Amino acid sequence: MMEEAKQLFKKLKIHTLLDLVLIIPTSYNDTTLTLKPELGKVNTLEAKVIESSIYNGKLRITFTLTQSGRRLSSTFFRVTPYHHKLFEVGSSHVIQGKLEEYKGYWQMSQPKSIKQVGKITPKYKTVLKESEIASLIEVYISEQNLYNEGLDSKEVATLMHIHFPKSMEEVYENGSFKAAFISVLKFVEAYNHLKKLRGKRADFPALRALKGEIKAFVDNLPFILTSEQQSVIADIQKDLARDDKAAKRMVVGDVGSGKTMVILASVMMALPHTSILMAPTSLLALQLYEEAQKHLPSSVRIALVMQGKNQGDYLEADFIIGTHALLYKEDLPEASLVMVDEQHRFGTKQRAMLEVLVSSGEKKPHYLQFSATPIPRTQAMMESELLDVSLITTTPFEREVLTQTITKSDFPNLLTHIKEEIAQKHQVLIIYPLVEESTEVPYQSLEESRGFWESKFESVYVTHGKDKAKEEVLLEFREKGNILLATTVVEVGISLPRLTLIVIVGAERLGLATLHQLRGRVGRNGLKSWCYLYSNFNASERLTQFTKTTNGFDIAKLDLKFRDSGDILDGTIQSGQKFKWLNMGEDEEVVARAKSRLDV
Ligand code: ADP
Ligand code: MG
Repeated sequence: MMEEAKQLFKKLKIHTLLDLVLIIPTSYNDTTLTLKPELGKVNTLEAKVIESSIYNGKLRITFTLTQSGRRLSSTFFRVTPYHHKLFEVGSSHVIQGKLEEYKGYWQMSQPKSIKQVGKITPKYKTVLKESEIASLIEVYISEQNLYNEGLDSKEVATLMHIHFPKSMEEVYENGSFKAAFISVLKFVEAYNHLKKLRGKRADFPALRALKGEIKAFVDNLPFILTSEQQSVIADIQKDLARDDKAAKRMVVGDVGSGKTMVILASVMMALPHTSILMAPTSLLALQLYEEAQKHLPSSVRIALVMQGKNQGDYLEADFIIGTHALLYKEDLPEASLVMVDEQHRFGTKQRAMLEVLVSSGEKKPHYLQFSATPIPRTQAMMESELLDVSLITTTPFEREVLTQTITKSDFPNLLTHIKEEIAQKHQVLIIYPLVEESTEVPYQSLEESRGFWESKFESVYVTHGKDKAKEEVLLEFREKGNILLATTVVEVGISLPRLTLIVIVGAERLGLATLHQLRGRVGRNGLKSWCYLYSNFNASERLTQFTKTTNGFDIAKLDLKFRDSGDILDGTIQSGQKFKWLNMGEDEEVVARAKSRLDV
């Protein structure tokens, strides 16, 4: 590629030929002569100037149309000497503009005089000059080059039509791209993305194959594993039984979908070799430690590593659970299986560090990540280019969380309901948009409202994301609290089994994924629960739809559907936003086709 083109590619922030072909014209400039003039549309007509006059500082030109002999008048508002000269009486033109009728007379306001007739010029909106992008397209987009990328004849023809149209009918239907063209664009977008991902996956041999028995563990559980838990466990068994390739798998399942059991089953597979599990907070690590002790056979030696305090001897353990304090232990034993829980709450760097820390050699431990951020199946298919993905889309028991949008007038009823829950020894969580007052947010802050709650109720606790004592507050609240006031950023990692009512103030400001995470905190133990979405405004379609489902995977789809709706202010990055044509909620089939094309 020429140096100059390279610079332009860089400016456009693109890397591949398909990136370039996917820069699609936002409109076309068509100078083909109009055969049948249509009112209200842009027409291109041959015309001759028969009269020119100045009226109120405006230039008024009367034409006769060559084709029909009809008269047409035009007004120019910003007149320069150029206009006078250009539209001299007697001169012939091809004029272009919107044709209108006024009292039976044809008019065209500010028409352009077209120099090159019969040409369709694509208009691109990019950071480059029009001539620069046009020349890139001209030079690099050719049938030959597109075939070389692995596209088929229909796809190549479509893309050539889009960038080098011979007529507008060829590309547009009612003013936008033909449906068949859009499905090609979706495909090319998916194909290009997958093509880039492919080849990026790096695999290493495993330290060893792990084939430990899980039966003793499974038979001892107080419940039967759901079929999805079983099938994920089977996926992992296949992964770990290999030594030529270290596992690299992400298990995605909603809050409460029972991922811990999958973690524990994996520990069983690894025996007699060591497993390590990293959790994002010490509360969560402690909880996992307790669950491991409860469900794993007593012969399994378990250790807990946290900043300052450890339990059990991690040098001798079969299963080491810890926080990121693990990353600073220099004598951490080599683990054959490394796991990260609540993966979405760590930085990429921390995750990678753990993997490296436990093995610096040629061979790597098997690596499993667990995430509670549901993603649409299409996205999972995409990501599976880099690592294997298993989805758990159901929960062991239906959680009953009634979700309702409420507003100011519902406040007295809300207070009554809160009192009723507290009378039953249940707990309430109220989420505020901010810690302190702000003029930009039309809601009370945590600090402004705490006085109200503290005067009306006993045992009101307050914490927020930056609160250093957050974990202690949460632990104390779990035992003694009635009401917890917090902000959206507070990560309630621990389960609060008595929590049955959550109020989210200013719910319309939040993305559905965030709302879903917040709602996931109530009703963890099957107690009937409520989620109130408090807003000063009428409920939007987005919030209304949210109240109708509790399935995280459906919500991920809804999030995509409403990704352009203006009422989300928390800046949540929704999944799949980088695609212009492909809809991650719907286009599973397109992604499947793109994948199989790459497999050939
Ligand atoms: P996650 O980590 O996916 O959010 P957990 O593993 O904490 O979910 O499981 C949530 C709750 O469901 C726990 O109390 C757990 O003991 C319970 N549980 C897990 N699997 C099952 C099952 N198959 N049947 C019934 N309860 C289960
Ligand atoms: Mg969990």
